[in-house]
Amino acid sequence: MNLHEYQGKEMLASYGVAIQRGIVAQTVEEAVAGYERLQNETGTEYCVVKAQIHAGGRGKGGGVKLAKNMDDLKQYASNILGMMLKTPQTPGGMEGEGKLVRKVLIAEDCYAPDFNACKEYYVSILMDREKKRNVIVYSTEGGMNIEEVAENTPHLVHKEYIDPLVGLRDFQKRNIAFNLGLAGNAYKDFLKFIGNLYKAFIGSDASLFEINPCLKTGDDRIIAVDCKVTLDDNGLFRHLELEAMRDIQEEDPTEVEAKSYGLNYVNLDGNVGCMVNGAGLAMATMDIIKLSGGSPANFLDVGGTADAARVEQAFRLILKDPSVKAILINIFGGIVRCDRVAQGVVDAYKNMGNITVPIIVRLQGTNADIAKELIDNSGLEVHSAIQLQEAADLVRKMIA
Ligand code: GDP
Ligand code: MN
Repeated sequence: MNLHEYQGKEMLASYGVAIQRGIVAQTVEEAVAGYERLQNETGTEYCVVKAQIHAGGRGKGGGVKLAKNMDDLKQYASNILGMMLKTPQTPGGMEGEGKLVRKVLIAEDCYAPDFNACKEYYVSILMDREKKRNVIVYSTEGGMNIEEVAENTPHLVHKEYIDPLVGLRDFQKRNIAFNLGLAGNAYKDFLKFIGNLYKAFIGSDASLFEINPCLKTGDDRIIAVDCKVTLDDNGLFRHLELEAMRDIQEEDPTEVEAKSYGLNYVNLDGNVGCMVNGAGLAMATMDIIKLSGGSPANFLDVGGTADAARVEQAFRLILKDPSVKAILINIFGGIVRCDRVAQGVVDAYKNMGNITVPIIVRLQGTNADIAKELIDNSGLEVHSAIQLQEAADLVRKMIA
């Protein structure tokens, strides 16, 4: 689950991480009130208006603007609220249709009074699965183009691996601060910053923190100006206050719907829809689709109870994706009997009445032979296969 910038900052602040202060607004009036409050609290004239969507690169798409006075503020807030913001990370990138902006963050200008005295750094924390450790990835080259820095000058991107048993050690914090070239108060401030940031990462069961820019201000303080926070869904039951921050309007609608049925669904960009029981079999099915020259349009684990109703829900979800050219159903009948599933598939197909893509069904296990007969005699455009390879070959023929 992803947090909005303003939510992520709220969470970070609760762990003592210094952040760019701000007030979230859904209307221009709220933005004006937020601006006035911020001016009273911080004394600064300038503020930034930042679009709140679940995608980075907002600055590049015109979603982050520096307002120098109330007129600017009103103008930017009204421009940004309700816009379809295109960034390199919204669906389809800068050529896509963008994402609707429903909220803006009115934030203090941390770069004032002397923009040139500030320096932007990059700091992120994530899990390195191969090393089985969390890693802090950081660079002196923060700002908007970290992807290019990593591509063209990888030696400027540093990593600090953290032993899960002992956590982030003081010498590691000093090492990072030193590599960033910090000195004086900024150096001391950074040690506190990174220590609290790591505590927040562990404490919130996060899987990704990205602070870019992490700013050294003109008066030598360290501040998180932006933050991307991804939380591990499996840890959310321990953080009800964070779970309450979920913004389903930002999430893939099909995935949200699937979740409400208790289906495990992940949208992908291929052309073969798959319906499988069991995550392991689903992964294997996606592999064989790839090997047969197709590309999976989704991951879908229907779980142990693949009855007609469930199969129909799954069908409907898969068919919402216009790029699906064929559907491969691969079910192992261990607890659930294959003939039941086959009947479910046939019923759902007839019920829906509008399925135009070919369906390939591979059922193995209890009563697989009866299931095959059921499907072959149904008169529908449903093809049965016994071996997975046969099924994959059928898929290849269907999408050719
Ligand atoms: P992103 O483009 O989605 O990553 O959004 P950011 O929050 O990182 O903002 C983009 C850029 O706007 C930053 O890299 C900064 O250069 C600039 N920016 C953000 N906050 C401020 C601010 O308070 N003052 C000024 N002058 N620039 C800012
Ligand atoms: Mn950023």
